[in-house]
Amino acid sequence: MFHARSFKHCKACGGAVMYQVPADDNRDRATCTLCGLVHYENPLNVVGTVPVWRDEVLLCRRNIEPRYGLWTLPAGFLELGETTAEGAVRETVEEAGARIELEGLYTVLNVVRVGQVHLFYRARLLDTEFTPGPETIEAQLFAEDSIPWDRLAFRTVRETLKRFFEDRQRGQFGMHCADVG
Ligand SMILES: [Zn+2]
Repeated sequence: MFHARSFKHCKACGGAVMYQVPADDNRDRATCTLCGLVHYENPLNVVGTVPVWRDEVLLCRRNIEPRYGLWTLPAGFLELGETTAEGAVRETVEEAGARIELEGLYTVLNVVRVGQVHLFYRARLLDTEFTPGPETIEAQLFAEDSIPWDRLAFRTVRETLKRFFEDRQRGQFGMHCADVG
């Protein structure tokens, strides 16, 4: 079972934290040894898009760690105060400087090992003017036969692209939920 164990000090009083099962609970929680505050840790949402222009997909080359220099779909952590759709659009603007119109939710991928859920929306690019942000070295359109499969940054990106091209071949886009190791 995945444990982040990211807390060392209490958020409220700065006291030392110990992982233990609180009363009426059934798993270890970061519990403050001074004030007793229990810190709950839950999976994070990563939201992104599959931006499409004609038969090409937009990928971004990462200018940051992890996976510096590798290619990804535009995606990032969902922020408080925004919907998954808003977050997906924001990340696409921030990373690729691309103008898009969202289509349907496309993949929901559990990455239990790292405590994340990745959600990708299909999106239509409104033009091909890209102005990548500081997290991106370059943003580029790729046809299916030129996708850099061996230089993709994340397995969820690979899974999403694989399904996208399979669905496009079939002429029908479903919605896919899967677990990624
Ligand atoms: Zn405390």
